[in-house]
Amino acid sequence: MHYDYDLIIVGGGPAGAIMALSAARQNLRALLLDKARFPRDKVCGDAIPPRSRPLLQAYNLLDAVRQAPHAPVTAEVVQTPTEQLRVQFDEPELIVRRVHFDNVLFQAAKAVVETREGCPVTDLLRDDSGQVCGVVAGPSQKITARVVAGADGFSSIVARRAGLYRYERAHWAVATRCYYRRVPFTPGEYEVHYFDDIWPGYLWIFPVDDEVVNVGLGQFPAAHTERIPLAELHRRLLQSPALRSRFARAEPLGPIRGWNLPLASIQRPLHGDGFILAGDAAGLIDPLRGHGIDAAMLSGQIAGEVLGQICRGSDYRAERLALYAETVWQQLGPLFNFTRRFRERWDNPPPRWQSLSRLETLNKFYFQGRGVLSQLNPASEQRSG
Ligand SMILES: Cc1cc2nc3c(=O)[nH]c(=O)nc-3n(C[C@H](O)[C@H](O)[C@H](O)COP(=O)(O)OP(=O)(O)OC[C@H]3O[C@@H](n4cnc5c(N)ncnc54)[C@H](O)[C@@H]3O)c2cc1C
Repeated sequence: MHYDYDLIIVGGGPAGAIMALSAARQNLRALLLDKARFPRDKVCGDAIPPRSRPLLQAYNLLDAVRQAPHAPVTAEVVQTPTEQLRVQFDEPELIVRRVHFDNVLFQAAKAVVETREGCPVTDLLRDDSGQVCGVVAGPSQKITARVVAGADGFSSIVARRAGLYRYERAHWAVATRCYYRRVPFTPGEYEVHYFDDIWPGYLWIFPVDDEVVNVGLGQFPAAHTERIPLAELHRRLLQSPALRSRFARAEPLGPIRGWNLPLASIQRPLHGDGFILAGDAAGLIDPLRGHGIDAAMLSGQIAGEVLGQICRGSDYRAERLALYAETVWQQLGPLFNFTRRFRERWDNPPPRWQSLSRLETLNKFYFQGRGVLSQLNPASEQRSG
């Protein structure tokens, strides 16, 4: 069969952009499609996990990311109903709005592979044996490839059309995000707030530049039984005694937006005949904190490398593509198992605030390989700026 491309990548977020860069290094003929036009926003906390840094460096992207508007943070302040904890980082972490971060990655990908923006994928093509062999872009354009990669986010059309999309309530989180101006904050610090009534979950306040903060609320599976709309809960928490005075003059810069997060607390299938899934499409979000940029990028990198070998041959069936899934789980499985176990222990009410210090220390050590627990205070007055 003649194929138009070796690889079609659906979605140009962190997973798809890094996959394109990785595929280009393997000399694959790749096409990257996204329904949006870049720069585009993505609902997110905008915290770039330190574990993404090696890949940003590997593709010479770190300087470009640092040149985008961002806030360097050197400490995390964790507030619970009973204590406050401050974790000092050895190296600054970056908070970069996704509209900027993803654009840096996408433009780098655009320089090395063919891209089409404003190009939604609507269906998959299959050959006579039923193996995926391309996509339908827009209403009717058929494009063929040896392998199709779904890097198209939590509601992936590739996963849906391939029959792998499942909403499993116990393994999904939900979250909100809104940018605000006129909220007092300490430059160089990001904040995580735990409350009894949104357990398991947390609210974050992350500075994204000198005057704007990204505020969001993440709720993990066991809390889904509560039927309060998430945006209402988000507003309500900002009016809670702990935060009310700081948000008294807050000016929202848009609506409170919600999004879904498929958690890696289960191992979902990542491949089939002629296709693979990466990033959120594959459900690779950390079960404890809900970050996923790092795993999305890593899965993209692995996909490019593995497909570089496979596309040189003529067999793109599930048995061959299993190498991709195996490599992803080899590299990410131990991390996800660790955080899943923590999540399970923590989800049992009442919240174990007293073990928070241990959690945070482990979190920093395990996830970020650094960070020093510098202070542990008893419940203290919330800062009012
Ligand atoms: C509120 C919230 C806060 C979060 N905070 C953090 C955080 O601070 N740090 C962190 O690391 N992670 C965070 N995450 C998780 C993180 O946003 C995701 O894990 C990450 O975006 C995954 O990247 P991706 O490339 O897999 O998917 P996405 O970033 O979702 O990219 C998917 C791309 O596919 C495109 N697409 C979708 N459908 C189609 C289609 N049919 N045809 C063509 N293109 C299509 C989209 O336009 C998009 O560009 C957060 C998530 C949420 C919801």
